[in-house]
Amino acid sequence: MWPNTKQCAVLLTFDFDAESLWLAHGRDTPTYMSRGAYGARVGVPRILSLLDRYNIRATFFIPGLTAERHPQVVQEIHARGHEIGHHGYRHEGPTELTLEEERAVLEQGFASLEKVTGQRPKGYRSPDWDLSHNSIRLFHEYGFLYDSSMMASDFHPYRLKLDEAEIDLVELPVSWELDDAPHFHFNFSPYRVGMSAPSKAYEIWSAEFEGAYAEGGAFILTMHPQIIGRYHRLQMLERLIQYIAGHPRVWFATCTEVATEWLEQQKR
Ligand code: ZN
Repeated sequence: MWPNTKQCAVLLTFDFDAESLWLAHGRDTPTYMSRGAYGARVGVPRILSLLDRYNIRATFFIPGLTAERHPQVVQEIHARGHEIGHHGYRHEGPTELTLEEERAVLEQGFASLEKVTGQRPKGYRSPDWDLSHNSIRLFHEYGFLYDSSMMASDFHPYRLKLDEAEIDLVELPVSWELDDAPHFHFNFSPYRVGMSAPSKAYEIWSAEFEGAYAEGGAFILTMHPQIIGRYHRLQMLERLIQYIAGHPRVWFATCTEVATEWLEQQKR
């Protein structure tokens, strides 16, 4: 399925929200904002250093506002060869937007990211992992190659449908199991307490990788610099990278590389 007889694609993805995560929820007080700033000041530099050590190129989904607040951090991500994807403007969920508002958010996000990196993103990930009834039509209109917000598969990309017909828009599916937030992200809600030991996530993530490898699919992991950036969690991520890299014919790739390859395979 993958190029050069690779057995499994591995996509490390990072949603670099910084303060926009908190602003989107009306949490603009200093300590909440500082939790976002931690992602830019501490999380991203540690992640970039880890990825460099293993010569891995990853994908960072970044809201336009985060690019405006931290242009040098975003430029550094871009300069090191990682892909940058669209992640809204203020980290707003599309389901709450009208068609025109959703269009404006897409354009604002494009403008901010293009200003900082000089490149137009090819992929989109919804900030709240949900799409509106207009989103796919808009993605098609704006020429996105892929989306990464939905869950109809785990290890296998699939085509999205517009008006009941499949189009050349690839879904790179996400899952809550393969997201650092439910495992680690502390909040005061009784339902999502976070703060797990890294060993718990390692057990789940390594077993899910084994499934993706066995099926010859793609292992798609979602992380956030302000969460995974803590030292003990990055230690676990490094162990996971070592475990994955110990398997023959593993392809660490960006979302655009995998979506492009998958689409070409479908057309052969
Ligand atoms: Zn996000």
